[in-house]
Amino acid sequence: MDRVLLDYGSGGKASHRLIGELFLKYLGNAVLDRLDDAAFLEMSGPLSVSTDTFTVDPIFFPGGDIGSLAVHGTVNDVAMLGARPKYLTCGFILEEGLPMADLERIVESMGRAAREAGVLVVTGDTKVVPRGAVDKIFINTTGIGEIFVPEAPSGRRARPGDAILVSGFVGDHGLAILSKREGLTFEAPVLSDCASLNHLIVRLLETIPEVHVLRDPTRGGVATTLNEIAGQSGVECRILESSIPVRPEVSGGCSFLGLDPLYLANEGKFLCILPQEHAEAALSVMRADPLGRDAVQIGTVRADHPGKVVLETPLGGTRLMDMLEGEQLPRIC
Ligand code: MG
Repeated sequence: MDRVLLDYGSGGKASHRLIGELFLKYLGNAVLDRLDDAAFLEMSGPLSVSTDTFTVDPIFFPGGDIGSLAVHGTVNDVAMLGARPKYLTCGFILEEGLPMADLERIVESMGRAAREAGVLVVTGDTKVVPRGAVDKIFINTTGIGEIFVPEAPSGRRARPGDAILVSGFVGDHGLAILSKREGLTFEAPVLSDCASLNHLIVRLLETIPEVHVLRDPTRGGVATTLNEIAGQSGVECRILESSIPVRPEVSGGCSFLGLDPLYLANEGKFLCILPQEHAEAALSVMRADPLGRDAVQIGTVRADHPGKVVLETPLGGTRLMDMLEGEQLPRIC
């Protein structure tokens, strides 16, 4: 069969063939291969659990695809609590008629991403819906990890005087998706940064357990994420525009499209907020990893305007970076 049929989600013979020939082939492991009603896991708490549903359009984009993104996105959220992600569940909603080759490419990519991140897919589900009821493929993943730090990083723990660090260039994922969707080509192609950050997060927290906040600035970008943290902690996040790393091609594309890179999604970056005296050490750990090579401090936490994000411009002015009313770009992840 070269296309997904409604029968594949029936729970009957066709479903079992799909599970055996495709899902187990790329995602199989001792837990998943048991094929019981639920996964048998042995874990010790405290645990970090996160769920996310991926609807990105297009499903294949420069630097990744919906399959790798569904692994990276959830692995990263689980890791941000100071946890080692261990297990993933995945639910697929497939549109009747989706080319089998596309599905295979996506599942293979998920398997690769899961192996690299060191997580096992332990249970899953597949539904096929009639043409038009969903656009090609939606994937839900839930991740579970074991928290290994005495005090989990949290958006509520930012304190005045803390440093605000970012692990690298911002806006790559958002611009990569948008340019592919709109058929735009730039001189230097922009790749999504999508990647699993868990190994870097483990090294960072093992070296510097004093980290207060870790968060990946996905949908809504750095500006939205800092607004969430400012609100949760009741502090001001003050950032310096000139210190924020943006690739020239991303800032060029943003000016062309009338977008602000600070509101664009990232899928392989994180913000780290910690006492200023540990900032240099944290930056060296981050820079020693390819995923944090371009890490820098972009600002500091203050008490002045609780709940606000303030941007200092190169000319010395300041600008309020509010949360957007709606989404800047739909179906970015
Ligand atoms: Mg997140």
